[in-house]
Amino acid sequence: METIAIIGGGASGLMAAVEASLALRQAGAVAHVALFEADTERVGRSILATGNGRCNISNACISADAYRNQVFVEQALMHLQSAYAAERSATSMRTLEANPVLERFADMGLVTREESEGRLYPMANKATSVLDVLRSTAAELGVDVQTDKRALRVDAPAPGGAGCFNIRFADKAIAHAAAVIVAVGGRAASGIQLPEPLACSDMQ
Ligand SMILES: Cc1cc2nc3c(=O)[nH]c(=O)nc-3n(C[C@H](O)[C@H](O)[C@H](O)COP(=O)(O)OP(=O)(O)OC[C@H]3O[C@@H](n4cnc5c(N)ncnc54)[C@H](O)[C@@H]3O)c2cc1C
Repeated sequence: METIAIIGGGASGLMAAVEASLALRQAGAVAHVALFEADTERVGRSILATGNGRCNISNACISADAYRNQVFVEQALMHLQSAYAAERSATSMRTLEANPVLERFADMGLVTREESEGRLYPMANKATSVLDVLRSTAAELGVDVQTDKRALRVDAPAPGGAGCFNIRFADKAIAHAAAVIVAVGGRAASGIQLPEPLACSDMQ
């Protein structure tokens, strides 16, 4: 069975694992999603520290021009919106006026509440509830979560070949994957050797 590998189990990696699993399921593809996290014990530790332990998960007025990389954010939101529209038209009468990210979290069981300046927090007022829904959804979807797996290097398939990516870990293990999503956070990105076209040079 082919593997989609996610490197890094923070907010981005956990969400990537959920989205990859849902996309595979929707496409009827038989593949396995594996998430490799460097922390020795758990995924999502960074989420617990956000918003003073409450996790300011989003804002009621999301606007791409509030981000440094406006073009990328615009494209990401548009893609999310259209993917969500396709899903919804088949299964539900819910409207799409809402923020698609929050809709996805609502589907996972997370309810939010709004505070000043549109800041959104989980209703339970605890960052743990955000991590809990991400972890439990990943588990339900069969994501293979492995901790104590620090990736050191990713090698791309040989050009023109039908090979796979090889991921080398600090414990000397090697994993093979048809696709790799690198979600190690900004600062850690320099600690992992990536194939030349993907190598990260701008750490901003
Ligand atoms: C004090 C503080 C408060 C914050 N509050 C908020 C808030 O309220 N709301 C908000 O939206 N944002 C907040 N942020 C920002 C938010 O934490 C980050 O934007 C978010 O955590 C980025 O998620 P990420 O998954 O990209 O990276 P990270 O959270 O950094 O996750 C990366 C993961 O990859 C793992 N990793 C790293 N290297 C490797 C490797 N080589 N192999 C395998 N795994 C690896 C790490 O252990 C980590 O688990 C806050 C940040 C700080 C510091």
